Amino acid sequence: MIKFLDLQKINLIHQQEIEEKLINTFRSGWYLLGREVKNFEENLKNYIGSNHAIGVANGLDALRLIFRAYLELGLMKKGDEVLVPANTYIASLLALSDNGLVPVLVEPNLDNYNIDISKIESKITSKTKAILIVHLYGQIVFSEELKEIAKNNNLKIVEDNAQAIGASWNKIKAGNLGDAAGFSFYPGKNLGALGDAGAVTCKDDDLAKAIRAIANYGSNLKYVNIYQGLNSRLDEIHAAVLDVKLKYIDNENQIRREIANRYLKEIKNNKVILPIEPVDKKEHVWHIFVIRTKERDALQSYLQENEIQTLIHYPIPPHKQEAYKDLNHLSLPITEAIHEEVLSLPISPVMSVNEVSKVIEIINKFI
Ligand SMILES: *Cc1c(COP(=O)(O)O)cnc(C)c1O
Repeated sequence: MIKFLDLQKINLIHQQEIEEKLINTFRSGWYLLGREVKNFEENLKNYIGSNHAIGVANGLDALRLIFRAYLELGLMKKGDEVLVPANTYIASLLALSDNGLVPVLVEPNLDNYNIDISKIESKITSKTKAILIVHLYGQIVFSEELKEIAKNNNLKIVEDNAQAIGASWNKIKAGNLGDAAGFSFYPGKNLGALGDAGAVTCKDDDLAKAIRAIANYGSNLKYVNIYQGLNSRLDEIHAAVLDVKLKYIDNENQIRREIANRYLKEIKNNKVILPIEPVDKKEHVWHIFVIRTKERDALQSYLQENEIQTLIHYPIPPHKQEAYKDLNHLSLPITEAIHEEVLSLPISPVMSVNEVSKVIEIINKFI
C-alpha cells in the first residue's frame, strides 16, 4: 500500500537527533518558555527573514492571536471585515469569527484553486481591514497587484502559512510577504511536530509584543497582566523537535518538488486536470498535490483498489458547514465545484521513485 503520508517514516529519518533532543529536554527539568523555544524562534525568524517569530500552541491559535492583537492594539474592531478565500480549510475563518471579525469570502481561481486576486477589489467596503491569504496546498499566492490593492486600501495582509513553510515569491519567503503570518506544525504539515504546535511571524515590534503577551495570559511580566489573554504557548519538547527538523525542511521540500514535477510531466490522462506549474516568481512546496476530475469518487476507489491511498482536501467548503449557518446561503460555484472534484495524491519526502512511478502508471491507465 502506498500511504498518503507515512508520518512514522518521515520522523524516523531523523530518529537519532530527535531522540537525543527529547531525552535532553526531558532531563533538563525545564518544559515551558525556555531555551528550546528561544532557539527555535531565533532559527525560524532567520529562516523566514521576518523581524519576529513567536512559538504558540497550534496553527489556529497563531491566526487567532494575530487578529486578537490587532483588536487589542485598536487597529481593528469587532464587526470589521476580513477578505478570505472561500476555498480554504475552516481554520482560516475560525480565526476571524472567534475575534468577532466578519469573514468575507472571495472565490478562487480555477488555475490554482486559490484566491482570485482580480475579485478582491469588488469585495472591499469601508469596514474591510485585512486580506487573509492562504498558501493552500503549499502553493504560494502573491503578486504585485495584491500588494498594491492592500496598500491603496490601507489593508493588512495576513498570511495563513499553515501549509507552505519554505515557499516563496520573488525570493521572499511565505511568512514574510505580508504584515503577519500564522504557521502550523501539526504533525502532517511539511514541518511537523509530535503533536500540536504553531508560530507567528511578523514585521511590527508592537504587534509581536502584544501577541507574545496575549499567548501568555496577557502578560509580558510574570503576574502583571495587560490583556485578558489566553494560554497558547509552544512547549519546549515540541520546539526541540522542530528545531531539528527545520534544518532539513529545504531538502524535504525539494523532494516534494521533484515528485510534483514528475506528476506534472508524466500524468497523462484526459480525465485528470493537473495543477499549473508555478510561474515566474513563485516557488511552491507542494504540501499536498491536488488534481481535479469529474469522476473523483471513481478515481479514488480505483486508486484504493490499486493500493494507492488518496485524500480529499476538502469535501465540504466552509460556507456549507453547519458551523457557518449565516454563510450557507452564499453561492460560490467555483468553490463548490472544486470541493466535488479535488483529489490529493500521495506526496512526501519519504516516497520512493518507484512509488511515484506506480502512482503515475496507475492513474494513466484509469479509463
Ligand atoms: C492546518 C491548518 C490550520 C490550522 O493549524 P492547526 O495547527 O491544526 O491548528 C490553519 N489553516 C490551514 C490552511 C491549515 O491547513
